[in-house]
Amino acid sequence: ITLCEVGLRDGLQNEKTILPTQEKVDLLHGLVDAGFKVIEVGSFMHPKAVPQMADTDEVFKAVGQIPGVELRALIPNLRGVQRAVDCGCKKVKLNVSASRQHNLKNLNMTPEQSVAGFAECVKAAGEHGIAISGSISMPFGSPWDGRIPLADVESIIEAYLNVGITEISLSDTSGMAVPNQVYEMCAHVAEKYPQVSWWLHFHNTRGLAIANIMAAMEAGMTQFDTSFGGLGGCPFVPNAAGNISTEDVLNLCEESGIETGVDCLKIMELSKRVRD
Ligand code: ZN
Repeated sequence: ITLCEVGLRDGLQNEKTILPTQEKVDLLHGLVDAGFKVIEVGSFMHPKAVPQMADTDEVFKAVGQIPGVELRALIPNLRGVQRAVDCGCKKVKLNVSASRQHNLKNLNMTPEQSVAGFAECVKAAGEHGIAISGSISMPFGSPWDGRIPLADVESIIEAYLNVGITEISLSDTSGMAVPNQVYEMCAHVAEKYPQVSWWLHFHNTRGLAIANIMAAMEAGMTQFDTSFGGLGGCPFVPNAAGNISTEDVLNLCEESGIETGVDCLKIMELSKRVRD
């Protein structure tokens, strides 16, 4: 399986302390040294909305490109693509909420309308040689809408496919997913949309993240986001507790004979450094 380390983005954005840019750069090199081939470095949100990520551009400029390692950033819109171009970031990820009420309240648009608006991002990214993916937050459940109907999730997946995005993350931002639901949705979408490269992103709000990862693996999923030290959550979702910790997933994999290519001891050292 392949893990994407999201601690530098999803982890740090939920911490009160803002790390200096150089510390982020050092941590990023530590993650690469530990074996990560995919890392979410930060986001190009408005600095007032997420001050912890205000220096993402500087981190990318300092690190440059690392051969064999994908360094990605979360973006809200076209402005995010422009910032990626300016700082040398080569991979961006868009996001929409599968929770209709949430999306309507925040953006006054249905999730499908939001995704259709991403066409300009796909075009701009393509013109600059930047790869682009999409994520769907709360496809399993939201504090506003409860369980999300599968048809709603499918219609967002199809909206992404319509604008040319074929790498899609199902992001359980609210941590409301349960294993049987994860298994069913993963098996279903993997079969229905074989052209999609899937990522799964779980939060441990109700203690089920590791069980959900196992359920997704059993349904054939192979790409997962994890956060070293279990850092972070989501500042926009009330009480959303930490991401699934990288160390827990590495332990599960090592003890089950599943290759990740990531050295757990090195990650534990990095986590300790951030906590101290
Ligand atoms: Zn998250």
